[in-house]
Amino acid sequence: MSLSGGCQCGAVRFRVEGQPGRASICHCRMCQKAFAGPFGALVTVKIVDLTWTRGAPTHFQSSDQVKRGFCAVCGTPLTFDYSDAVIDLAVFAFDDPSAVEPVVQLAKDSRAPWIDHVADLPVRPSPGPPSEITSRQHPDHDT
Ligand SMILES: [Zn+2]
Ligand SMILES: [Zn+2]
Repeated sequence: MSLSGGCQCGAVRFRVEGQPGRASICHCRMCQKAFAGPFGALVTVKIVDLTWTRGAPTHFQSSDQVKRGFCAVCGTPLTFDYSDAVIDLAVFAFDDPSAVEPVVQLAKDSRAPWIDHVADLPVRPSPGPPSEITSRQHPDHDT
């Protein structure tokens, strides 16, 4: 098994061999801030299984224990780096995020209250494919 992924612009790409470890979502304020979203979704992989196939993350040392990796070009959060043996990768940076399903949530105390009701929000119909917008997002595969 091999899974690929990368940032939005494609300057940083990775590949993970073998089965990834446990995936989680974390509601802590540091993950909310680092992802600028309601939670961080991260999966643990062995460092020996991870190859940076294009570019490499830039790091912000977010605490004395952890540095967080991101693409310096487009800003996509990519890693949670806290060990010499394992590293966490951002689940939604994978080309197929559905291949990595979170099985536990952390830091419930700072969970955004509306998270409980996301599935109940009214759904606005999609206007269809945009005709005048050209996406510069890197495709969900190696190039
Ligand atoms: Zn990028
Ligand atoms: Zn967190």
